[in-house]
Amino acid sequence: MPSFVYRFSQNHTDLETPDERLVGGKGSGLLSMAKMGIPIPPGFTITTKVCQHYLSSGTFPDGFQDQVKQAIKWIEKALSTGAEFGNEQNPLLLSVRSGSPVSMPGMMDTILNLGLNEKTVEGLIKQTDNARFAYDSYRRFVQMYGSVVLGISGKEGLENPFERILHHRKAERGVALDTELDALDLAKLTQAFQQEVLAHTGKAVPSDPWDQLWASISAVFASWNNPRAVAYRNLYGIPESLGTAVTIQAMVFGNMGKDSATGVLFTRNPNSGDNHLYGEYLVNSQGEDVVSGVRTPEPIETLFGSFKEAGETLKQVANQLEHHFQEMQDIEFTIQKGKLWLLQTRTGKRCGKAMVKIAVDLVKEGRISEQEAILRMDPEKFTELFHPVLSANAKKEVLCHGLPASKGAVVGPVVFSSKEAMELAKQGTKAILVRKETSPDDIHGMEVAAGILTARGGMTSHAAVVARGMGRCCIVGASEIQIDAANQEMKIKGRRIVKGDVITLDGNTGEVLWGALPLVEPDWDHQEEYQTLMGFVDRYKRLEVFANADTKKDAQTARRLGAEGIGLCRTEHMFFSKERQGPMLRMIFADHEIERQQALSALLPMQQMDFISLFVEMGPLPVTIRLLDPPLHEFLPKTIEEEQAVANELGVSWSLIQAKKQALHEENPMLGYRGCRLGILHPEIYDMQAEAIFGAAREAKKQGIDVYVNIMIPFIGSQKELDLLRARIDLVAKKFLADSPSISYQVGTMIELPRACLLADQIATTADFFSFGTNDLTQTTLGLSRDDSGSFLPEYVRKGIYKEDPFVSIDQEGVGLLMEMATRKGRSKNPNLVIGICGEHGGDPKSVLFCHRLGLDYVSCSPYRIP
Ligand code: PEP
Ligand code: MG
Repeated sequence: MPSFVYRFSQNHTDLETPDERLVGGKGSGLLSMAKMGIPIPPGFTITTKVCQHYLSSGTFPDGFQDQVKQAIKWIEKALSTGAEFGNEQNPLLLSVRSGSPVSMPGMMDTILNLGLNEKTVEGLIKQTDNARFAYDSYRRFVQMYGSVVLGISGKEGLENPFERILHHRKAERGVALDTELDALDLAKLTQAFQQEVLAHTGKAVPSDPWDQLWASISAVFASWNNPRAVAYRNLYGIPESLGTAVTIQAMVFGNMGKDSATGVLFTRNPNSGDNHLYGEYLVNSQGEDVVSGVRTPEPIETLFGSFKEAGETLKQVANQLEHHFQEMQDIEFTIQKGKLWLLQTRTGKRCGKAMVKIAVDLVKEGRISEQEAILRMDPEKFTELFHPVLSANAKKEVLCHGLPASKGAVVGPVVFSSKEAMELAKQGTKAILVRKETSPDDIHGMEVAAGILTARGGMTSHAAVVARGMGRCCIVGASEIQIDAANQEMKIKGRRIVKGDVITLDGNTGEVLWGALPLVEPDWDHQEEYQTLMGFVDRYKRLEVFANADTKKDAQTARRLGAEGIGLCRTEHMFFSKERQGPMLRMIFADHEIERQQALSALLPMQQMDFISLFVEMGPLPVTIRLLDPPLHEFLPKTIEEEQAVANELGVSWSLIQAKKQALHEENPMLGYRGCRLGILHPEIYDMQAEAIFGAAREAKKQGIDVYVNIMIPFIGSQKELDLLRARIDLVAKKFLADSPSISYQVGTMIELPRACLLADQIATTADFFSFGTNDLTQTTLGLSRDDSGSFLPEYVRKGIYKEDPFVSIDQEGVGLLMEMATRKGRSKNPNLVIGICGEHGGDPKSVLFCHRLGLDYVSCSPYRIP
């Protein structure tokens, strides 16, 4: 017969080395405390295996109920107070709590004081000589049983019916706190609760304690699948199959009077990370009172004065537990008539700043290794060190959800064009730029906006990529928004929001919220700890970390945050400024080679300046420059007004512009005349860029900067393409670097088409390096446009078709397989091939781990994601 339950009490444990997957976090903590001799109420944990059995079959496994009955007999013996479960003279009361293998705070349910009925409550009164306490416990039990087992809860937005009755009774009695209700009030309250249960369900709470117990265990198992728990698991990627353990313990009571209390304690401050006890407690209360906010708890410091003995023990136990686990603990305790009992210990949740400080301090205290400190970092939490976050007590009114494309939280008035954003910025106000989708000419509006919100687009759409690069908060693909830019307004689920209305974006969750919500600005108090931690990282990491940076400013941010080079400079971003648009368009409009050359000559010195500033900023670190990639029509004017302005400025006819637009129009621009195809058909464009790069390298060298140049060709699908383009680059290099032999350069390719992966061995014979462009590789492998996925992809993820948005985290099964193949094949023909990644995935922790395992040499990501 397998063990379905494991028993524990102070100094006794059925399981020497508890496994959280089997006994849950709570069970594991209790079994460990038992072994350490810490005072805990005797009890046992039902394994997750029983839950899995129950959820798949709807029944308990054979033999399970007998084991539970024996374990309860054992509790009665361990207590040695004569109390027995169901005994009407001296009833044993139990707590039933869920305990998932992965902490899911407050997500599942608890039932306390189980075993009470109209007879045992009398026994309890006799035993304790405390009718108030007995009825206080009874009314709590009926409420919890009603809520958890019978599913009585307030409908959304309405008050929980039990709370309503309690509130009513307090009003009737003219008291503010439930501690001011007396025994009679509480007895009446219990009755009223019973009637409420009957009215709701047509059934009474069962009197038989055993019936109560089996139903409660079943309900806690079932709570694994309640919507809150499912949503939490989805959010944190916790597997469905784990199931929850259930812990059953003898009750200890914090509601026995003024000499009793219940509370929570963190062994360090979870907000600052400071090394002092942090927590709160409530006198004469039971557990849920502390969290539910019915009364304001007192800070833990005062407990040490009012409960001297229990307080001392609590300090010792906290210290003992932290030393045992070598990690900050979150402890729940009860003091019953002056005696301390521990109910739970687990690793405490903490904010980003505290996460770093605690880990670094534990290393300094000689308690954990540097590697352990690094492994304890939750990479997502680093966000809080660099971006504002929504205050935890913000009262949210969610307008809609989109995809959380770039972190941070911002407040601002909405505008519907980049022009308006720039006008507001001039007046000193940062707006929230709302667009159906952004295009390259929104760049200036995005630059000055507080945040960006788009109705369309996925996690690698233009808005997402650019905002992430700028470290600007951004939500994309909020498909419930209908924008009427002409009238400067939008509708969200029928609600009208006009220009100037203030909203809040939470780029960490994708929530679009009404009004100006309070934000918490990042503070750098703990920069020192952060630098120490990153110093540990530098000692052990293998992958190099580069930045995707297009401008001097990006490069500065990148260096400040620790970049070891630039892995992707998207040169197209350099052509959108006013002064460059003219020559760029002249180049596109040119009918003859000579005209085109003239336009390119005008661009060349500007481009050279760009590269000089990057080399100077980054020297002596490598700078990887990608030659022009987007289809040319992206540079053309969009609206009639813009066309008119361009016609005037360039002195060309409006019809010429129309004709060019028609000629360059593409049904599917992502798969057309772009990337290296531009370079093949118009080699003079890439020649100009190569000249600018080598010219800049020479110039920087003259200034004493060590330059390290990588030229990268986008969208390669065949070795032949790379052969042709590399030959021209080498030629330009010969010409420009003849007098600077010390400047070395490499020519590599982006790997962003499946064909490039399939034929990577051939391509590698011409390439010095590969850089996976996983934005395009994902789009082309999945046949899923990165700009059009926003509308349906979330549903795909909800349905589990994709585990995650493949534009956020590499689709390891599919795209990952191609990457593995390209890496293997590439290195088979060119053992010196350097391989990295520069798609947005290069900043996603899970994808970075995947790249590490694949044996890549570097990852490159937006500057703000470097940490
Ligand atoms: C990519 O495709 O992954 C990439 C980095 O290039 P871009 O996003 O500019 O297409
Ligand atoms: Mg690409």
